[in-house]
Amino acid sequence: STLFSAIDMAPRDPILGVTEAFNADTNPSKVNLGVGVYYDDNGKVPLLACVQKAEALLMEKAAPRTYLPIEGLAAYDRAVQDLVFGADSAVVREKRAITAQAIGGTGALKLGADFLKRFSPDAQIYISDPSWENHRALFESAGFQVNTYPYYDANTRGVNFDGMLQALQTMPAGSVVVLHACCHNPTGADLSDAQWTQIIEVVTSRGLIPFLDMAYQGFGEGIEADGQVVRRFADAGGPLFVSNSFSKSFSLYGERVGALSIVAASAEEAARVMSQLKRVIRTNYSNPPSHGGQVVATVLSTPELRQLWEDELAGMRVRIREMRAAFVAGLKEAAPNHNFDFVMQQRGMFSYSGLSKEQVTVLREQHSVYAVDTGRICVAALNSKNIGHVLSAIAQVL
Ligand code: PLP
Repeated sequence: STLFSAIDMAPRDPILGVTEAFNADTNPSKVNLGVGVYYDDNGKVPLLACVQKAEALLMEKAAPRTYLPIEGLAAYDRAVQDLVFGADSAVVREKRAITAQAIGGTGALKLGADFLKRFSPDAQIYISDPSWENHRALFESAGFQVNTYPYYDANTRGVNFDGMLQALQTMPAGSVVVLHACCHNPTGADLSDAQWTQIIEVVTSRGLIPFLDMAYQGFGEGIEADGQVVRRFADAGGPLFVSNSFSKSFSLYGERVGALSIVAASAEEAARVMSQLKRVIRTNYSNPPSHGGQVVATVLSTPELRQLWEDELAGMRVRIREMRAAFVAGLKEAAPNHNFDFVMQQRGMFSYSGLSKEQVTVLREQHSVYAVDTGRICVAALNSKNIGHVLSAIAQVL
């Protein structure tokens, strides 16, 4: 036998598999709701005007492409801290927060996982049930055992808050709890402010390590409102891990722009943490790519471009909400015996629609409407042209 002859075929990625099937479909009215990407009303991934303008400025500068520092572009890391924690926040002012540019939100999670494996190798990791499926894979591949805490309640189509709280109360101290800071993927079900107060209280008092994943800042209620959970955890003191991504909020998917921030108890502690995080980065990919970070740093630090970004992000958020409303209203008409009002309560790009695996199969095979087997649909892939077909297809499978 040879090195490769005994290697099994790895399972297909469940979400990317949906897109592969979609691409092979020749039906002209096909719709892909299985994606995790924002499309505009023409069904296109937008190139934001703020990004184009920042790129024009960068082109003009024609700067040489040197290596970035291990932790990334300083202006970018500072801009991320201001956005995520607030420029006037205690953790930024007191230099208790450190931030390293990362290769998207995924890269930030991977850095956090590798860092934790070095310094807390026996920690238990807890992710929500359900969660973004890569959470489990990322922490497992870093060498951890990954557990779940109750999150979604299919009966209420909201959060099983009592179950979640109870789980937090029984986790071993030092466990790492991965929490979605806003716009939960895949369910769209978020905690209320009052519920977060209780979560922060139990996480802090029980000595659990919060790892906040924020991939959709600005897609829920707004940039500031969506960032509140991170700020409240930061106010409660460290240790705290925050991974954030600009893939969706800047529509910069392929540029791979994200960051990992860690909050420590003092500036001195934070400096030691940063020195070790740099070792993790150095042995992974040495230092991050520069283009996406330059673009985001330019937009965030140029008042006129920053305003443009906020307006464009608001446009995406509002369009998604309009699609939610059209989805609910359309099904009220097409399937009056079913209640989809819960879709309006959900936040972000996704909705756990309640469609069963069987219904998803019929949608795909008979109507060329593609969703994830769990019933997750991407509301941001609906538009004024395809929603009619989607609604009539769903009404027929209900
Ligand atoms: N975390 C969550 C919850 C996500 O949904 C995603 C992307 O879908 C990510 C992280 C990763 O983001 P990125 O594409 O920037 O790696």
